[in-house]
Amino acid sequence: MKAIMGLECHVNLLSKSKLFCSSPTDYENYEPNEATCVTCLGYPGSKPVLNKKIVESALMVAKALNCEISPVMFFSRKSYFYPDMPKDFQITQYEIPIAKNGHLVINGKKIRIRRIQIEEDPGKLIHVGGGITNAQYVLIDYNRAGMPLIEVVTEPDFENVQEVREFLSKLQSILEHLEVYDPGKEASLRIDSNISLEGGERVEVKNITGFADVEKALSYEIVRQQNLVRMGMKIERETRHFDEATKTTAMVRKKETEEDYGYIFEPDLPQFTLPEKLIKSIDKQMPELPDARVKRFTKEYVIPENQSQIIVYTEKALADFFEACVKLFNKPGYISRWIVTDLLKVLNWNDITIKKSKVTPKLFTEFLKTMDKGEITERLGKELIKELVPAGKSVKELVKAKGISAKIDLESVVKQVIKENKKAVEDYKLGNEKAVQFLIGQVLRKTKATGDPNKIKELIKKLV
Ligand code: ADP
Ligand code: MG
Repeated sequence: MKAIMGLECHVNLLSKSKLFCSSPTDYENYEPNEATCVTCLGYPGSKPVLNKKIVESALMVAKALNCEISPVMFFSRKSYFYPDMPKDFQITQYEIPIAKNGHLVINGKKIRIRRIQIEEDPGKLIHVGGGITNAQYVLIDYNRAGMPLIEVVTEPDFENVQEVREFLSKLQSILEHLEVYDPGKEASLRIDSNISLEGGERVEVKNITGFADVEKALSYEIVRQQNLVRMGMKIERETRHFDEATKTTAMVRKKETEEDYGYIFEPDLPQFTLPEKLIKSIDKQMPELPDARVKRFTKEYVIPENQSQIIVYTEKALADFFEACVKLFNKPGYISRWIVTDLLKVLNWNDITIKKSKVTPKLFTEFLKTMDKGEITERLGKELIKELVPAGKSVKELVKAKGISAKIDLESVVKQVIKENKKAVEDYKLGNEKAVQFLIGQVLRKTKATGDPNKIKELIKKLV
């Protein structure tokens, strides 16, 4: 049975202050409940003031996702049933979102964006002595209350988990290129996933943070629903929670309906029209976006398109790293091949991103140049890069640490090998190609894989 899925993506937007007050957003640096003020704690009489930077950032995201922008800014109060919102309502956009009717193309397929809305984040509930469904008691930290968010809501256009993964990685890349969000910050992108089987009721799995967990939650949910249907049971509209430890979902509540939220207009934030000048200035601020960057990489650097895609969509920092490398060593094809095949593999093994690793464009290009000049073999290079990434040492230091001298006198090694392998030399003279491979192998053994095989072959021919 076919599954369809839709996403609600909550993005933490970068800003010095919260959405409606001047409390700081770097709340990790504060004790619980310290990064707050009368407004984000919802004291009676306090008034919200809209953060202009967040409006601008939201407009940039809206443009990048090909949305229609609402000329009118308007906010509503959504009744809130949980203790993590001190006001008992959340200021959000309901009737008029800042943007709607956009799309994002993944692999030639259009995923429609239903709406983008600006809203404030609730505080944080900390479940002690258990999970969300069985904790002994709950602590509340309001530091996060009032943090600026946008919610990007898609239409239910996803037909499989792969499409969801591609969408999220592209969305993340766009947000990074717009510099409106920090992917390194804890939970800066939180996803609610909605899943239904053809014609059935939909289930919402709330608040998943990692991309890998989104996939796991969706896959789990698809199987769970299919099993229920197979057993002749009905799927009910409900909200589920994803348990990060067991990678399963559990029911938290029957889904509220729209009426339960009791939306009313926000009287403290009067409706206003976005100045045309502001919208125009956003156009000017739009940076190069990932799709355009992929196209440019492919054309300007003459590298395969799938390599451009991997480099750009993995992480903006990786694309920046690539371009910095090309400036230092004008062999883009060589650089991109090594990034896509080996560098990324080693980063994954070490479970770090390029930003957090110790590899700099200078270290990486020096390493590639050493190989390009034939001073070390690619085979040795594949070993050395495993150390280059975590250690952040120069290729010279790494080679030295391995007890190999970087500048070996290849010629004298070849001479020695010729002396020691008379039989193979004779065979080679008689035209046996295998013999030359054997001789090259002997040279590589003596040099611990430093030296370019083609150069060694030339030397053998010359010296025999
Ligand atoms: P709500 O306001 O209750 O959150 P919405 O209608 O705004 O519901 O939709 C929320 C999300 O659910 C959207 O991302 C949408 O794509 C998704 N969705 C809607 N219908 C379905 C469905 N039949 N199957 C899966 N997802 C759906
Ligand atoms: Mg919703």
